[in-house]
Amino acid sequence: MRRLPLVESRSAVYEDWPARPDDFNTIPLLHDSRGRRYTYLRLSVTDRCDLACVYCMPPGGEDEHAVRDDLLTFEEAARLISVFAMAGIRRVRFTGGEPLVRKDIVRLVEIVHRRTAVEQLVMTTNATRLAELARPLRDAGLHGVNISIDTLDADRFASITRGGDLGRVLAGIHAALHVGLEVKLNTVPLRGRNDDELGRIVDFAWSLGATPRFIELMPLGEGAKLPSSMRMNADDVLRFLGDRVHSEPPTAVEGQGPARYMPASNGSAHRVGFITPISNEFCDTCNRVRVTAKGDIRACLASRRAISLRNIMRAGGSDLDLAWAMVWSLSGKDRGHHFLEPHEHEHERVGMSLIGG
Ligand code: SAM
Ligand code: SF4
Repeated sequence: MRRLPLVESRSAVYEDWPARPDDFNTIPLLHDSRGRRYTYLRLSVTDRCDLACVYCMPPGGEDEHAVRDDLLTFEEAARLISVFAMAGIRRVRFTGGEPLVRKDIVRLVEIVHRRTAVEQLVMTTNATRLAELARPLRDAGLHGVNISIDTLDADRFASITRGGDLGRVLAGIHAALHVGLEVKLNTVPLRGRNDDELGRIVDFAWSLGATPRFIELMPLGEGAKLPSSMRMNADDVLRFLGDRVHSEPPTAVEGQGPARYMPASNGSAHRVGFITPISNEFCDTCNRVRVTAKGDIRACLASRRAISLRNIMRAGGSDLDLAWAMVWSLSGKDRGHHFLEPHEHEHERVGMSLIGG
């Protein structure tokens, strides 16, 4: 097979990769050399956002946004997802940046729903545009949304998101619930910024029938610039939740994501989720692969190895070529993410908005 062009980018180190072997002539299920199976794709549809959360996006946005021609087109995204589906991917999460700022995002969801064998389409969003889009998204085939909300105080919200309007997010949450989307609320606990509200956020989520989840602050991109004293692990969060949940440690990883859940102590069906990449690395059970808005496949948030699936398609590559690039990308996946270790290429660790959180 001819060598297909790679792509240059500030954030990625592109290693040379071998040509597709002659005997690679069917699309295999994706797994890696450590026995992990891959069933979940996180696809970023844009690296832009209408907010600039302090742990994610620099004020005024990232220096380098993909230009329009860099982005995967909807046709390319749908083709990629159908190859991923043949390779065992069952669930796709649209993310970003903010996925709802991608023009015609509803059409993308609809195309992927109609054309691919993926079982479940979900999205992570800041919900600023969800009040208008919840119904069309659901009609297009979206199953659920994870909505990021770090505070219920309008001034704090504006401060953490650098200008966001809490009212729009709340309207988005209500719209999503109203049209029957499954809703989870994601909160990054930040000592000194929202720690006094964590219990209230749980009560709020439960009162709506949504599941609250806490994500440990990761030292990536802007998150790496915040003082480490702001980081809170699951135990720190639990102390703020009082007697709302059982006190034993979170259960084993369940479902298709990295969250571990603790049941409410009042016997109701409510739960609180914890995503603990720092205090309790879940890499051993990782089942997800990421594709950036430009179409680079990344085996892990922390991984520097990336291959441009977009360029393979634009150079006329076949579905088998794409599958080989996926297989090869995952074959080099490390056992863990090493977020807290000093990093030889610190500047290459980009934030979630560029990789697709
Ligand atoms: N814009 C959408 C949103 O905010 O939900 C989707 C993309 S955002 C990058 C996805 C998730 O990553 C959000 O829940 C956000 O809170 C989380 N996130 C971003 N940077 C983070 C960091 N440094 N540590 C932990 N979580 C982070
Ligand atoms: Fe935007 Fe989401 Fe990052 Fe906040 S976390 S800046 S909403 S991409």
